[in-house]
Amino acid sequence: MNKSNTSFNCRVCVSEKIEEFKIVHFGFLTKNENWKSFFCFDCGSVSEFKIKENEITYADGAYRDNKNHFNTKSDDKKILPPIDFWSAISFKRWAHIWKVLNKSTNIFSNKELKMLDYGGYNGFLPYAFSQKHKINSFVADLDQKGLNMAQFLGSKTIDLSKNEIDEKNFDLITIVHVLEHLDKPLENLIKLKDHLSDEGVLYAEVPNLYGFPLADEAHKIAFTEFSFAKMFQSAGYEILDYGFTKTPKESIKFDYYYNHESENLFIICGKKRKNPSLNFPKNKIPNSINNFTYELKIKYANLMLKKISFTLFKSSLRYFRTFALFFIYGLVDFISLKIFKISLVSKFLRKK
Ligand SMILES: [Zn+2]
Repeated sequence: MNKSNTSFNCRVCVSEKIEEFKIVHFGFLTKNENWKSFFCFDCGSVSEFKIKENEITYADGAYRDNKNHFNTKSDDKKILPPIDFWSAISFKRWAHIWKVLNKSTNIFSNKELKMLDYGGYNGFLPYAFSQKHKINSFVADLDQKGLNMAQFLGSKTIDLSKNEIDEKNFDLITIVHVLEHLDKPLENLIKLKDHLSDEGVLYAEVPNLYGFPLADEAHKIAFTEFSFAKMFQSAGYEILDYGFTKTPKESIKFDYYYNHESENLFIICGKKRKNPSLNFPKNKIPNSINNFTYELKIKYANLMLKKISFTLFKSSLRYFRTFALFFIYGLVDFISLKIFKISLVSKFLRKK
């Protein structure tokens, strides 16, 4: 923490007390040589800057096209379904959001809820909520394909590549896995406050620095509990609740196995509401860059050992059980059909 970097600041708290680091990890991949990564000694977050090649764009759909979940070849790359399996996984995040909002707020006692899903892409979250409650929903995003889907599902849309948000007095603003993509999220949060009603609440969710790989090319920030809460406080919000959450467990079926209890951070804020019993997250910022990278690697080791390997082992057992069933059934039937010309397995099962 000896040298301050003149050309870069912390993306979260704008501090100059940042220091560059580079780590290599094969379980939790990190950014390539096109990026500079900094740790902030004021808030404890990580800010990353792409210094070579272009940044990912959203308005032209390039971000989603690059995801390539279907492993398509270049010929049929243009022909993609309107959703992919990751849409189904991220759709299921609604259940946790619904649960914690019900626990920490009374917004669903409103007859109709005016909701803004900021960076809401395909509008799946308001679509889920609309089946639980009367919702007047708006989706703001840069991706035209996503907005078309959101409109189809019943939301009004705001194309952020062309327009500002005019609507005010939202009872609920959701920002789910969006803030880590932004250059200066504090500025977006300050602006959004004008669109929240006095009694309204905001729900935000991001990956946790100590629980998620840094490699994602679209992520510019990795937050901690403290830096996340501090950013909302600096933007003038009252914090009502915060905690950890994880990606739905079905993601293992699509080879995503980083889900564990502290994978993501969530926060619920308001403008005027207060929660007097809430303690602010502890400020546990490592005091040197070596301590930080040590802390990060020890967390990774813990997660690999206690969470990820366990998830993979459980899922391998499931496959092994199915393998054993098919193999033994096939073997017994093959032998009995060859010798007796009947399936002993089905004969035995019918008698029972
Ligand atoms: Zn900072």
